[in-house]
Amino acid sequence: MQIDSLPRFSLAHLPTPVEELKTLSRRLAGPELLIKRDDQTGLALGGNKTRKLEFLLGEAIAKGADTLVTLGAAQSNHCRQTAAAAAKAGLNCELILNGKKPEVANGNLLLDEILGANLHWIERSQRAAKLAELDAQLRGQGRKPYLIPVGGSNGVGATGYVVAMLELMEQLRMSGRRVDHILFGTSSGGTQAGIVLGARVAGFTGKLHGLSIDKNDPEHFEYEAEVAQIANDCAAYIGSPVRVTRDEVKVVYGYKGEGYGVVGDLERDAIRLLARSEGIVLDPVYAGRAFGGLVDLIRRGVFKPSETVLFWHTGGAPALFAYAKELA
Ligand SMILES: *Cc1c(COP(=O)(O)O)cnc(C)c1O
Repeated sequence: MQIDSLPRFSLAHLPTPVEELKTLSRRLAGPELLIKRDDQTGLALGGNKTRKLEFLLGEAIAKGADTLVTLGAAQSNHCRQTAAAAAKAGLNCELILNGKKPEVANGNLLLDEILGANLHWIERSQRAAKLAELDAQLRGQGRKPYLIPVGGSNGVGATGYVVAMLELMEQLRMSGRRVDHILFGTSSGGTQAGIVLGARVAGFTGKLHGLSIDKNDPEHFEYEAEVAQIANDCAAYIGSPVRVTRDEVKVVYGYKGEGYGVVGDLERDAIRLLARSEGIVLDPVYAGRAFGGLVDLIRRGVFKPSETVLFWHTGGAPALFAYAKELA
């Protein structure tokens, strides 16, 4: 393995803390609960994309790029962290966002503008065409764009989560803890790919649960294969002989509610529960939904009270402010 010799641009405050959720564990009469604070990666309010961007930026700079181009939803945490990473590295940033420019920019979108990104609004169905057009246009102007896929989820980006899993294993070793289950929200797959591959590389023996925040089985039954593909691209990138099969990728379905970005009781209750028992703030789209799913699984007795479950907080809280109406 050659992670240490891969191009990397430092962005994150690492290691992120692992904390005990004592009050909440007691309240739920459930398993021991831990939280890994990747909402605290530090870059412009933090989140999981910062870890992926360290390796994506590394490659972009090594290739001589002067502009980052990526895409996402209007409240994309990935776009906001990409805009911040570009600013820090002295690169331009072009963001292709779904939908129409809202009257008031709030949450992540407000930060995109503050961070100096150039915004392009399009219909979601036009994404691929717009990306190709923008790429050609920038090249025509003599610029050197580096394209980052949705969520930064490819083999290069997932490397950030292989490193994260090695980091967590070291934290568990130092504290003498054993973790039986790790649960996190999953959407574009890079985080899960890195965690699954990192677990194999580091010899983690507990169970990994990616809770899908935007798909319901079997509608997207290829998702596990997509995650395994990203993990294997990542293994090739880092020079690991490990190969991940789709059966090793465990996805929890059934929590997508009314769909991506639509806040319901599950998220509202989960956000309040964690805030009021531990003073930790979740987000409405990803971590709030994933945590709501975890609480439901705990209440249904899926985990033994003697077990330890770690929730990987992937960030996203800036989006809370764009959902003020739905959350009130
Ligand atoms: C992007 C994101 C996720 C999902 O990560 P993927 O690598 O896209 O699966 C989870 N939580 C938050 C807050 C995110 O922004």
